[in-house]
Amino acid sequence: MITVGVISVGDEILEGRVLDAHSQTISEKLLGTAAQVKWHLSVGDAPGELSAALQDKSSQADWIIISGGLGPTEDDRTRQEVSNAFGLNLLEIPHVWDGIKNRMRAHGVEPAENNRRQAFFPEGARILENSRGSAPGFVIEDSSERKVFALPGVPHEFKGMLADFVLPEVAALKGDVKSGEILDFVAVPESKLDEWIAKRVPADVLYHICVRNWGQIEVRLPVGVSLTQEVKEEFKGHFLGTGGLSIEEHLIQSAIRSKMSLTTAESCTGGMISSRLVNVPGSSRVFPCGWVCYSNPSKTRELDVDPRLMDLHGAVSQEVVEQMAQNARIKAGTDLAVSVSGVAGPDGGTSQKPVGTVWVALSTRNSIASHCYQLNGDRTRIRGLTTNLALLALHSMVRKQEIPGWLPNPS
Ligand code: ATP
Ligand code: MG
Repeated sequence: MITVGVISVGDEILEGRVLDAHSQTISEKLLGTAAQVKWHLSVGDAPGELSAALQDKSSQADWIIISGGLGPTEDDRTRQEVSNAFGLNLLEIPHVWDGIKNRMRAHGVEPAENNRRQAFFPEGARILENSRGSAPGFVIEDSSERKVFALPGVPHEFKGMLADFVLPEVAALKGDVKSGEILDFVAVPESKLDEWIAKRVPADVLYHICVRNWGQIEVRLPVGVSLTQEVKEEFKGHFLGTGGLSIEEHLIQSAIRSKMSLTTAESCTGGMISSRLVNVPGSSRVFPCGWVCYSNPSKTRELDVDPRLMDLHGAVSQEVVEQMAQNARIKAGTDLAVSVSGVAGPDGGTSQKPVGTVWVALSTRNSIASHCYQLNGDRTRIRGLTTNLALLALHSMVRKQEIPGWLPNPS
């Protein structure tokens, strides 16, 4: 087993302007491999910060993966910092400088003197070619198998180089890697799940429960424990399946398998549901289109919602969401449609329909059902929860199950 430390470099991360996504990507990709991430660290661009972190005895690992600071500007100091930390000279590699010049000229840009900085590397470093940008990465290795990778910060370059140079080395590592079953849930209280699982896993064995994105829960069981059959019976529609997948990934997989198409009619979620669906590769096979109808007139214009219904019951009502879902399904020609309309806040709540009141409807070729939720939280959370609940309704229907918490489907 190899231990891995991850360092993201950049003032923009420490100042909160950019969320450190690269550490998460590395951890996700290395999970279940023979390279185990032990720590994440973020440091600023100022001289001495990265080299101090690299020398810090408390943050040691077999491999260290650094992202950022390989650009051409004064604050891009990863090359110098790594050299300083390991007492290596910084040397210019002429063919890299030629490559940078050629690449820039091919794009009609005359290289500036500071671009030359990107052709300097710690002595003995292996250069990692960057086919997606100007900053090559590098790796230094010492005799004791310690490696330090330096990759660019620009997201698509970082991801590409991680895949090109780091992951193949991870795949080549020898090590007995066993991973247990991963169970995916949505909208189950974490404490209930924990209590239920604790009773079925030997007391001295660790399992992990991770809550992500407004109530999607992933349970990683130890090797040798399988609970799939039991959780199906206990948690019904709340149990999505196995594999550490999101609800939309499970939904798209199930819909493709059962050849069912779906569409969306969204008000308060403003496209979040369709965006989550479209994030999944292959979704075009089952999701042809969706609607975002935020205002009342747009609901009438795009989805033929009867304006009298909105006058009588308001846009956040059973009558309106049901009409949105029915009409969306008919217009899109799909098997299923989900619609949502709610009060996301912070304004717009009334005593009868406080902030967090959300109607969700689900239309099939021969039925219509709907449910009113009272959700807590701020605008972002309410919209996120609503999105999950709408995806859950679709997922249940695709699997021909009852929608958890809803009245039984009349059909
Ligand atoms: P360049 O200076 O040529 O852009 P670089 O290798 O020096 O490349 P950085 O300057 O550190 O990279 O980062 C470039 C941009 O990439 C940052 O402004 C930020 O938007 C994004 N970025 C950098 N590090 C991260 C990270 N850990 N997570 C998410 N985005 C990041
Ligand atoms: Mg930079």
